[in-house]
Amino acid sequence: MDKWYKKPVRMMRWDYIQNIGTMKNTDLDKLARMKKEEWHINCEWIVGIPGAAPGAGHLTTFRAEGFESYPGLEDFDCLREYLPYAHKYGIKLLAYLNAHWYSYEFADKHPGWEQLLCNGKAYGRLHPLYGNGTTLCVNSPYRHWVYRLVKETMKTGVDGIFFDGPVVFRNCCYCESCRDKFKNKFGKDIPVKENWHDDLWKQFIEFRRDSLAEFLGGARKIVKEINPGGVIFLNSGGWQVGGWKYARDIEKMEKHQDFSGSEQFFHTNSSRTVFDTSMTAKYLTSGSNPAVVFTHYCMGLWHYIPLMPAEIKRALAQSVANRANPWIAFFDPMGTNRGANEPVAEILGFVEKNEEYYTEPDTIARVALHLSLQTSTYYVSRLEELYRDTGMGREEELSIDGGTGEVIIDWQKRKGVNEMMLYHSYLGYMLSLIRNHTLFDIILDSGLSSDRLKGYDVLILPNSACLSELQRKTVKEFVERGGNLIASFETGFYDEKGNHVEDEEWKSFLGIEKMEGILPVAVTGNYLVAEENFAGFEKGQLIESPAHSLLVKAKKNVAAPLFYMKQLKTYYMPLEGRLDYPALLIGNHVKGKVVYTPTTFEALYGEHMIDSPSTIIAYLLDMLLPEKILDVQAPSSVEVEAYYQKAESRYVIHLVNCTGDMQRPIKEFIPVNDIKIALKAGGIKKVYRLSDKKSLDFSSKKGTTEFCIPELEFYEVVVAEVCK
Ligand SMILES: [Zn+2]
Repeated sequence: MDKWYKKPVRMMRWDYIQNIGTMKNTDLDKLARMKKEEWHINCEWIVGIPGAAPGAGHLTTFRAEGFESYPGLEDFDCLREYLPYAHKYGIKLLAYLNAHWYSYEFADKHPGWEQLLCNGKAYGRLHPLYGNGTTLCVNSPYRHWVYRLVKETMKTGVDGIFFDGPVVFRNCCYCESCRDKFKNKFGKDIPVKENWHDDLWKQFIEFRRDSLAEFLGGARKIVKEINPGGVIFLNSGGWQVGGWKYARDIEKMEKHQDFSGSEQFFHTNSSRTVFDTSMTAKYLTSGSNPAVVFTHYCMGLWHYIPLMPAEIKRALAQSVANRANPWIAFFDPMGTNRGANEPVAEILGFVEKNEEYYTEPDTIARVALHLSLQTSTYYVSRLEELYRDTGMGREEELSIDGGTGEVIIDWQKRKGVNEMMLYHSYLGYMLSLIRNHTLFDIILDSGLSSDRLKGYDVLILPNSACLSELQRKTVKEFVERGGNLIASFETGFYDEKGNHVEDEEWKSFLGIEKMEGILPVAVTGNYLVAEENFAGFEKGQLIESPAHSLLVKAKKNVAAPLFYMKQLKTYYMPLEGRLDYPALLIGNHVKGKVVYTPTTFEALYGEHMIDSPSTIIAYLLDMLLPEKILDVQAPSSVEVEAYYQKAESRYVIHLVNCTGDMQRPIKEFIPVNDIKIALKAGGIKKVYRLSDKKSLDFSSKKGTTEFCIPELEFYEVVVAEVCK
């Protein structure tokens, strides 16, 4: 724990874009001091290579042997000049190196460096980056040019590097270096067509990821040679499905970087949930690296106007409440607007003052939610019904007979259908758990190990379709040992590379006697009916049902509380009664339980925000986890996260009130009163609020400690100390 980057870090990027020369005429002492005292950061990114038009990737803002300087700086060295002041105020300085956006002129001087599409055309010539500029390939000699740059950067004395890129762009790369490297490794040419039934195509997908991870590993080696305490990282990508297109693999990159970071920018037209930063933070903390959530301090695309203070506070508080490091970026002169620092100072200042409460927080969650990169990469369901045009705006003819008897498959569209399903499943579960105040951790594919699962009582596999034989075995053993499983739809029906598997034992483990097909995919006219009083639904009550529903028969002794209704053919038709196919299977194993739903009911919540699936999820968790570690009585818009600090023997409970004015960007938060919390912990000697260190009354009974928070304005941390 001695390394600075393992401790709570509060990062900022103050960006001048093309006007980096401004620094020449700035009082750097005052600048660094302002960032420390008014913004409360302890780590800053300074631009070493601007991410500026028209592709300035080859121009440095510092003295670097063999590299060209950014115009307007003359002999001013931004890194070396600013570094002593940053360090004077306790700010670690990282160089931001744009490594994905280069001018055509620079690329022309270096034939063979550009990323190529399979037709031999440079990606950046067909798709100019930000309207002008191209991008280079990590397998080409460009790699060594970058490594020299890394060396020059670290020679300035900075504490590390953030690489903005390189990105392996979609459908790349077919440059000579890639083609040679691939052929040497696999003995064959890189396949030119996307084909998810072709093993060579899948090898190409891994090859792209390995190339990026290797590139990063090589750069990291140079960083550590010059400064063993130096750091390097790049954007790992978020939880949203589809990262394979850009060769992003957070698990592969983990050991080659010192932070796992991802953007969670606010977009005025597409930010769907108020908990988006929390979800990204949870995803990034799934591994062993410290996490960073990148927050843009802009009103969406209006880059010189600050986002509303409530949104900025929300993003930063959700980052730190979920154990991620906060990061904020803005473009000068926006940051100098009067009062612009206030929302940032409120949260980062609080964290600075109470740093010890953010240090080494251990999870106390008993629920693990699996987000599967294997599945998001290789899942292309073999259920043809999923690809039929349903008149919902989905493209027709996803599978067509070419007249020769050959079936031509539109892989992109098929992949898109599966990715959307998965995206909504992930979103549905994460939102449901956060809003139901269930503590949970995200685990990735490598997390499906007996060692990692030991810490959990419930494992959720949201349509984790692609699981290896070993992973399926591990899940079964988890249940044998007394763990409980919730799985949905096609979980485990394919191997880790997306090949369909006939694993009857697995299906039987899920409670399935027989698979009989799938209901026609249709959004309208789908209902479930409660066969008995269940999850607050009365016997006979109708419940919304998702569009994707497998028809299975349950094994004997497996409970089936919900059934499908017969689908209505069109609107405004009478109900036609129940189908003899269950929608939820609950099986008792020797020690644990297995809950399997042949529908994607969590995706119904993720896509439509209809509450019924979330109610059922909450009920299932109550059933599987009768002894909740934390019981919170507060509106769903209040997020509660809790950890245990072993060294100090205390629980640290974060409350983020996102109860707002019902639209985004949020203008104000509405305070919430009388939040009752029951913590499954005895021997508590003191409970207090961190904001004013004021003690809270509490009562302890049978190993449970109860207390009440009279008012929560926005963000608060409550500490419960245990007698040592
Ligand atoms: Zn290449």
